[in-house]
Amino acid sequence: MAKTGEKPAAGTYKCTKCRFKITVDGATELPICPLCKFDEYVKVD
Ligand SMILES: [Zn+2]
Repeated sequence: MAKTGEKPAAGTYKCTKCRFKITVDGATELPICPLCKFDEYVKVD
């Protein structure tokens, strides 16, 4: 589980509420989900 404001390992993450997917490079903080404004993501592999 990763939350908004954290800098998780590079990869693709999915909003746990609306399933919006976002890819981060390991140096970027996760944003608030642009679709539902939720703040928790899970890693997608
Ligand atoms: Zn969402």
